Amino acid sequence: MATSVTARGEAPVTDPTALEFDVFTYFSEHARARTSATSTASARRITVETKRRRESPRSPSELTLRGAGSLAGAEVSAMAALGSHAARALGLGVDDAPLRSLLRAVEAAYRDVPYHNALHGAGVGQAVACLMLETRLRERLTRAEQLALLVAAFGHDVAHPGLTSAFLKASKAPVAALHADPVLESMHAARLLELADAPENDVARSLGGGDAERRAFRECVVFLVLGTDMGAHAGITEELARRRPGTLARAALHLADLSGSVTTVALSRRWVARLREETLAQGDAAVRLGLRAGDYGGQDRADPRPQSTAGFARGVVLPLLRALSVHVSGLESRLRALDVVAAAWEETERGEAPPATRL
Ligand SMILES: [Zn+2]
Repeated sequence: MATSVTARGEAPVTDPTALEFDVFTYFSEHARARTSATSTASARRITVETKRRRESPRSPSELTLRGAGSLAGAEVSAMAALGSHAARALGLGVDDAPLRSLLRAVEAAYRDVPYHNALHGAGVGQAVACLMLETRLRERLTRAEQLALLVAAFGHDVAHPGLTSAFLKASKAPVAALHADPVLESMHAARLLELADAPENDVARSLGGGDAERRAFRECVVFLVLGTDMGAHAGITEELARRRPGTLARAALHLADLSGSVTTVALSRRWVARLREETLAQGDAAVRLGLRAGDYGGQDRADPRPQSTAGFARGVVLPLLRALSVHVSGLESRLRALDVVAAAWEETERGEAPPATRL
């Protein structure tokens, strides 16, 4: 497993078990494959249709089904491919078909927003798998917990609207009336379970423990997704210190969620730019509603002072990483990588306007 820090300008890392894995390149390769599979399938369909029309006219629905069948042969979802790879690498021993089906559905349910999209979900899923592979974390978790951690990671922000819970409440968005606090995380957990409950996505069935095992899986997914709320951050760090059972998986997901934007310098610059775009868009939405752009987690285009990524890396991610490293060994390379990224941002931010604290 590669554990070195990628220097700027190096080729993108496409090994899904590597810390510095480049999810952007992975997704664009799948998008290219999807386009090519779609055009191959439609070219084949046109050829078959033309040939059949000449020979004996048949039902058009039969021809369409044939086309869809050939397309389904290729993996069109980057998230499904990544999740399947991770489950195999982890030796989870679950059925591949429902896992891929679930992750395809999860990827499709993510929205097209700048940061909290399927790329982010896939990145967090990969990071969690990487954490389980490079540390002894999985020895401390049951198989149901490991599967729940993987699924929760991929789906933890599913259907995210690119707006904060505080903004959704302030703007009286319908989702804020439907879900209890934390609004977004409750919505993500509900949506993820709804997808996991579809018979073709029922990966928990292959755990083999019957209803009790499936219940444990579902409860764990909800517990883990709710733990990605920043409001749970201090509690998770404190619980790690008290060695409460069940904290490790929650801490791992929360860490993977936070550290995605500060893993390597090159990836960090891309993620931070996306996050900034999303917070500026929320600022615009706030202004349209007569609210102040900078309130509820938005950012004001008229006062675009960058938030401090170095401060976030050192003040928020590092304490969590250190607290987790007391319990599981093998996180030394991550500590070093975080230091490199924080130092790069410190250099950048010295040349910019005084940073505000980012949370
Ligand atoms: Zn997230």
